[in-house]
Formats: sequence, C-alpha cells, structure tokens
Amino acid sequence: MCEVIVLFNGHSTKFDDETMKANCTCTLIKASKNIIVDTMTAWDREKIIQVLIKHNITPEKIDYVVCTHGHADHIGNNNLFVNAEHIIGTCVHRGELFFNKNLKDGYQICPEVKIIATPGHTPDDITVLVESTVSGKSTCFAITGDLFEKEEDILDPTIWQELGTTELQKTQSCMRSHVIDIANFIIPGHGPMFTVTDDMRKTIKNQIIV
Ligand SMILES: [Zn+2]
Repeated sequence: MCEVIVLFNGHSTKFDDETMKANCTCTLIKASKNIIVDTMTAWDREKIIQVLIKHNITPEKIDYVVCTHGHADHIGNNNLFVNAEHIIGTCVHRGELFFNKNLKDGYQICPEVKIIATPGHTPDDITVLVESTVSGKSTCFAITGDLFEKEEDILDPTIWQELGTTELQKTQSCMRSHVIDIANFIIPGHGPMFTVTDDMRKTIKNQIIV
C-alpha cells in the first residue's frame, strides 16, 4: 500500500515587483520507502518534526529527500534527514558521495515512485510520479514542484510564466502537458492538490508554446 500525504499546502502571494510571500507544498510518501518531497524554509524545522510525529514517523526513518528544484523554499530542512539519499533537482547525493543519474529516462527510487526531469521553472526541475490505488483504481499522483505553481495557473498561465525561467517557457509548457496527461492528481508547488480533468488537459495542450 502506498500513501501520499500532503503535510503542508504551499502558498504564494505577490505583494509587488520586489516582494512575495511563499512557502512550498511539503509531501510525505509512505511506500516501500519513506520519501519526503520539498522541505520548506529553514524556519519550518520544528513544524516538520511535529507533523511527522503525527504520521508515526521520525526524520531518521526517511529514506529519500526529494527537492523538486533548488530554490530556498524547497530545501530548507534537508539536513533533518541524514539517513536519506538526497535528490535535489538533478543532483543526487548521500553525504559526500554524488551519483550521476540520468533523470531524463526516469529514476525509479522504489517500485511505486519514479522521478522524471521536468525542466522549465529552473533547468533542473524534477517531478515525482507516484503510482497508487484509489478506490480500487490505479492512480497517478504527480508532485510537480513549481512546474505547476497552483491550480489557478491552468486558466491564467501568466502565474507560472512570471515565476519561471523565461528562456525555458517553451520547455515548461511542453512538460506541463506531458505531466498532466499522465497524472490523475497534481500536487503543485504552491497550492493544494487538485484532481485532473480532461478539460484541464485540453487547456494545457492548447497552451504549448511552439
Ligand atoms: Zn517554489
């Protein structure tokens, strides 16, 4: 049995051109391995320890830390998890040992969980794909980091476009379509999880920049 538990919903609010309030979505996957995806800011250490206790787990029992990209609001508490392999974007390491993984072909970290490269927001962005079962049906959860900022960016693409790497907008638009085509649920970088609909898939396909 594989469980996907959103520990904290991310959020983001732009105040003006210079200031934004944001924190990332933080997700726990309980599969054949224990995995935490995106570890929020350095100010959230105690919050993360406490929420893990609620889910009967301690930082020592986490096998993998996955950060969807290297921005400060996604990596702040990686050092809580020193028994884990760390996958920070396309950089994979355990302590001083660094591993060369080809994420383009996908990195299967356990039978239910695969990591794929989804460049766009940054050149090194990754998405976590989790195969689970919901009401007897096989279901794919995509934990996308800022490939999808929040559900609202489907109808208003300026939201993700303003926050990402300008040169990679074309790539990001293709990656968004690829991921939404295979996902049943998306857990975005800065908003609550949402159910994918065929209308959303069509909308995203029409937004591919050619
Ligand atoms: Zn972010």
